[in-house]
Amino acid sequence: MMNYDSWKLSNPIDDGHYYGLVSSCCGSEYIDEDEDGVLWCDECKCECDSIEDYEYEAQQRENYLEMMADGMRDER
Ligand SMILES: [Zn+2]
Repeated sequence: MMNYDSWKLSNPIDDGHYYGLVSSCCGSEYIDEDEDGVLWCDECKCECDSIEDYEYEAQQRENYLEMMADGMRDER
């Protein structure tokens, strides 16, 4: 009989909520530079941090709401 841990290891994605790490600037793939511990965004080729993709989406949503708020200010 399998214990829970070995079941989980054999089903890494099939647990209902898949997520991964993305670059903090573009939300895309990044290249790991292990020597200096620096990450490079594969999209804009800039130095970046890695964040969970749902964090990136939350950030994007905040930026969008801020943009909307700024736009409304400009119209006045
Ligand atoms: Zn980028």
